[in-house]
Amino acid sequence: MGDIGNDVQRASSLDEVNIFFDRAADRLSLDDGMRALLKTPWRELSVSLPIRMDNGEMLILQGYRVQHNGARGPYKGGVRYHMEADMEEVRALASLMTWKTALANIPFGGAKGGVQCDPSSMSVSELNRVTRRYVQNIDHILGPNRDILAPDLGTNAQTMAWMMDAYGQIHGHTPACVTGKPVELGGSDGRESATGRGAVFITTEAVGDIGMVMRDAKVVVQGFGNVGSWFARIACEQGCVITAVSDANGGVFNSRGLDVQALSKHVAESGFVAGFPDAEDLTNEELLELECDVLVPAAIDRVINAENAGKVKARLVVEAANHPLTPEADEILANRGILVLPDILVNAGGVVVSYFEWTQNLYQHHWPEERVNTELRQIMSTAYKAVREQANRQQVSMREAALMVGINRVARVVEMRGFVP
Ligand code: GLU
Repeated sequence: MGDIGNDVQRASSLDEVNIFFDRAADRLSLDDGMRALLKTPWRELSVSLPIRMDNGEMLILQGYRVQHNGARGPYKGGVRYHMEADMEEVRALASLMTWKTALANIPFGGAKGGVQCDPSSMSVSELNRVTRRYVQNIDHILGPNRDILAPDLGTNAQTMAWMMDAYGQIHGHTPACVTGKPVELGGSDGRESATGRGAVFITTEAVGDIGMVMRDAKVVVQGFGNVGSWFARIACEQGCVITAVSDANGGVFNSRGLDVQALSKHVAESGFVAGFPDAEDLTNEELLELECDVLVPAAIDRVINAENAGKVKARLVVEAANHPLTPEADEILANRGILVLPDILVNAGGVVVSYFEWTQNLYQHHWPEERVNTELRQIMSTAYKAVREQANRQQVSMREAALMVGINRVARVVEMRGFVP
């Protein structure tokens, strides 16, 4: 375990996600054939994306789409624009989407996409061109009944609008081919806040189960993007005290609680959380080790690992990001009695409201936000109860239980469909 910090020996995200998968598959006593089938992505596409940059130079970016499993419905998952988005990472995240949609019990399979780039260093028109190229190059595997794209790290509603437009240029107006669109273009009310809101629902349920209350609970949030900022805002409305938040650049801390509204305004104006008045600056590493009730990693993967898991001082860790804990960290926290709520449960709210958006598009209808939030709460609560029940019955962690529920649902459908003739 001492070698984990050493980059040369570091396991990939895919290896780690497969460790979690294998533990759950062991508990379910899946046979070797089913295990191999469920681990192996159904289809993988790697495309090159030649782009003319604003300065006239040509750049060739790499794009990916992995369709992991479509047994329960069309492939579904976000597209990330990030320097570390490579085939291995996208593959790992695609498999998490399969278990996430199954756990939420929405009629989708799992997929993920990525473009290896740094969106913060690109102009709006460069991003528009990359996005169109990406869609054109993977268009033949997309569609509202095949594979539906969505936002993820480094992409947003504007990216989805470009994707919908690029797909529509080939196939005609098809809003249901992409979710997370702007509301004016067929997006769903409540989609932007959905992942953060769903994560707060799950936190509220778990907090009650361990005899805590949301009011005055001290919460630390790593990441102030779409997920982290909405989590902070909604948790604050529930009476939580947000003592620290961060972005990729570093964080801010105030033991009496941060004014999240004012912080959002500060970020909108300056671009960063650092420098927020009435708070101390701190690093992302320091933030993860702060004393608190609830720690919410809502940024990137593997931030809590063998190096720092021993120093986490929270009662509850809420995985709002995808794969923020390594298997070693998961074990260390479990041994220290810290409850971990797993990503496929916590952050399922995004894809659940994507499902509502897809449904609204297919029916050419629009739901009011209250309906979206009410139905989101019902689905999240049902998923939470299924996981808790499985965890209690089998005496396993919430992660193992969540994966067991998801994997089992997919395995049963694979059998029923006669997938393997
Ligand atoms: N990217 C989000 C996730 O990781 C949302 C995916 C979707 O809405 O399809 O769950």
